Amino acid sequence: MTEEVSVVVVGSCMTDLVSQAPRLPKAGETIHGQKFFIGFGGKGANQCVQAARLGAKTAMVGKVGKDFFGNNYIQNFKDNGVYTAFVEQTSEAATGAASIIVNDAGENAIVIVAGANLLLGDEELQRAQATLETAKVLVCQLEISPHASLQALWMAQKSNVKTIFNPAPAIPDLHADFYKASDIFCCNESEAELLTGCPVATVEDAGRVGLELLNRGCVSVIVTLGPQGCVVLQSTDPTPKHIPTTKVTSVDTTGAGDSFIGALAFYISHYPTMPLEEMARRANLIAAVSVQTTGTQTSYPFKKDLPAELF
Ligand code: AMP
Repeated sequence: MTEEVSVVVVGSCMTDLVSQAPRLPKAGETIHGQKFFIGFGGKGANQCVQAARLGAKTAMVGKVGKDFFGNNYIQNFKDNGVYTAFVEQTSEAATGAASIIVNDAGENAIVIVAGANLLLGDEELQRAQATLETAKVLVCQLEISPHASLQALWMAQKSNVKTIFNPAPAIPDLHADFYKASDIFCCNESEAELLTGCPVATVEDAGRVGLELLNRGCVSVIVTLGPQGCVVLQSTDPTPKHIPTTKVTSVDTTGAGDSFIGALAFYISHYPTMPLEEMARRANLIAAVSVQTTGTQTSYPFKKDLPAELF
C-alpha cells in the first residue's frame, strides 16, 4: 500500500469549532449565537484531502490527540481515501482546535490551540521515512514545528521527491534553509509581504517579491492573488508569468489557498512533465470552485464533479 503513495503531506490537523453570533462577545460576557458547526481544518489536512479528492494516492503524516476529535479526524481521512498509518494519536495533548466566532458582519475572533500538532517530530518522520522517500511529491506548511517541516523537506529532496513548501502561517524570520529545500515555494500576498517586507497588491508587486523569493534559493515560486489568480516564476525562466483565473461569485474563500496547493500536488504527481504554468492554471480553476460554497473541506471538489479537460 505505502509504495503506491504519490503525495505525502507532513502537516497539521485542526478541528474548527465555529459559532455564528450577532456580535463578538466582550471580555466576561456570555451571548447567544444562532448557529454552531464543527469542521475539519488545518492547512496540512486540507491540502491532503484536496489532492485525494482529485485522485492522488495520498498519505498524511500528522499528530492528533487520543480523544473524540482525533478519532473523528482519522475517520475523515479514511472517508476521503487518505492513508492514515502515519496519523498518530497522543495522550500528551489534545487534537489541534480552532475556536472561531463569526459575527453578522462576517468579522471573526479566533483562538487556535495547535496541541498535538506540535508534538510531531523526528521520531514520527522516521516511521514515515520509507513512504516519504518513495512518494512523488511532499507538501509542508508551518502549522507544525518548523524544525519538523524542514527535516521532512530535506528527507524528500535527498531522495529526489519534489517538494512544495507553503510558508503559512507566515513568520517574518523564516529560516533561510526553507528556500533551498523548496522546489516550489507557494505563498499568498500577505505571506509574501511578511517574508520580504514589500507590499503586495498588484500582479507587478507579486512578480517583484517572487523574484526576491527566487533569489533566496527556491527552484520555483508561486504567489497566489485571490481573484487575480497567481504569478509563477522559475529559476530557469525568472520572468514573472501572470496566470489569471475565471471570474466567479465568491461565497467563502476560507481554505482556497489549501485547495490550490492540494491541486498543485496532484498535478505534479500525475503529470510531472506538464509546464508549471499549466498546472497553476488548472489549480486556479479548482480553487475557484472551492470559493463558491461555504466551509473549508466541504467546499473542495471531487474529480467526478470537474470538467474532464482538467485531467
Ligand atoms: P488566496 O490564498 O486568496 O491567494 O487564494 C488562493 C487561490 O484561490 C487563488 O490563487 C485563486 O486560484 C483562488 N481564489 C481565491 N479567491 C478567489 C476568488 N474570489 N475568485 C476566484 N478564485 C479565487
